[in-house]
Amino acid sequence: MLSAEIIAIGSELLTPTKTDTNSLWLTEKLNDIGIEVMLKTIVGDDGARLEEAVRDAMKRSDVVITTGGLGPTEDDITREFTARAVDRQLVYHDEIEARLRERFRSWGREMPDINKRQAYVIEGAEILPNPNGSAVGMLAEIDGKLLIVLPGPPRENQPMFLDHVFSTLKAIAGEVYVNRRILKVSGLGESAVDEVAAPIYKAYPTVQTSILFNKSEVEIHIAARASDPDEAKRTTDELAGKLAEALGTAVFSTSGETLEAVIGRLLLDRGQTVAVAESCTGGLIGQRITSVPGSSSYFMEGAITYSNAAKIRTLGVSSEIIEAHGAVSSECAEAMAAGIRTYAATDHAISVTGIAGPDGGTPEKPVGTVFIGYAGPGGVRSIKIVVPGDRYLVRWRASSAALDLLRRQILR
Ligand code: AMP
Ligand code: MG
Repeated sequence: MLSAEIIAIGSELLTPTKTDTNSLWLTEKLNDIGIEVMLKTIVGDDGARLEEAVRDAMKRSDVVITTGGLGPTEDDITREFTARAVDRQLVYHDEIEARLRERFRSWGREMPDINKRQAYVIEGAEILPNPNGSAVGMLAEIDGKLLIVLPGPPRENQPMFLDHVFSTLKAIAGEVYVNRRILKVSGLGESAVDEVAAPIYKAYPTVQTSILFNKSEVEIHIAARASDPDEAKRTTDELAGKLAEALGTAVFSTSGETLEAVIGRLLLDRGQTVAVAESCTGGLIGQRITSVPGSSSYFMEGAITYSNAAKIRTLGVSSEIIEAHGAVSSECAEAMAAGIRTYAATDHAISVTGIAGPDGGTPEKPVGTVFIGYAGPGGVRSIKIVVPGDRYLVRWRASSAALDLLRRQILR
């Protein structure tokens, strides 16, 4: 498999105000044709560092793509220093100058002299036309490797890449097909997932497997490459199947679906309904469930019962429960779930009550303490979780834990 690296050039990309998005876009295109991006670099407008970065990259990687620094001004140094890095001269192209002059004339202007810089091209390089800007790109074969030099603005480099680079790369990459799957896991941490998953995916050394934590879920990303699309798919299916079996109900999707989409599918399949009673999540659970198209078939009602009075009045939680155990308690969570289930006449109901912070924690119930209640055909129950994070994360994680409890109860 061919390896690639991307060098984003521009001092602004090293500041907090401007993000390098070119490499993300390019990585997606390269991965699609089975070329793996192994390294990305951001270099400021500094000739020596740029030259060194390109020189090193050409030693390591089959394909090196740079973006940016092809403008007409002093700080645009890419032409000069990429040429130095590959020990080639810059050659002046009259036809590029002529086209630039034409471009300016079409706007009723004369070309400023500094734009002449943009007529220099690395000796022997293919010139990549730029209908959307003044800087041409370059594609040079250097000792069996490819150096591709693209302008910075996405609206210039994307069409240039698609029209003049993509097919060349596809041809040298050969027939490589990539099949990707994302398994999503809830209720287990990253290391717990890896403990179970590693012995399985290590038996597939050619499949790229990565485990990442994503706010409240663990994702297992798998990508299989093969010279035949069916074979690539067979491999991901096989590995995904083995991982799902080993991890059991902790895996809620083997195709990248969201938790709320999975719940929607489960409820639709069973013709069942759900209602929610929320305190510290403030409607987030209802929002997530109803973000799924078609949720009106199974989501009946949500109540945001923030105050004790609302819990008592709307959900029928008894004041004795709140007095004896507090609003943040398993007893209250269960009463909330049972209350909304009766009121909304649904098959399932979930509730959340907790301390989102940053204030309000106590030694017994620190910030992040959340009780989740469930009421359903099999009865009423609750769980307690203590989740780390700021107010946003506590609320998000509480909503995920509630959705996961609901999912597991539907599956019972
Ligand atoms: P340059 O070719 O360096 O003069 O860049 C021209 C413009 O392209 C910059 O001002 C940015 O707006 C944009 N640009 C350059 N590099 C990137 C990058 N890596 N990702 C996104 N935009 C970029
Ligand atoms: Mg620049």
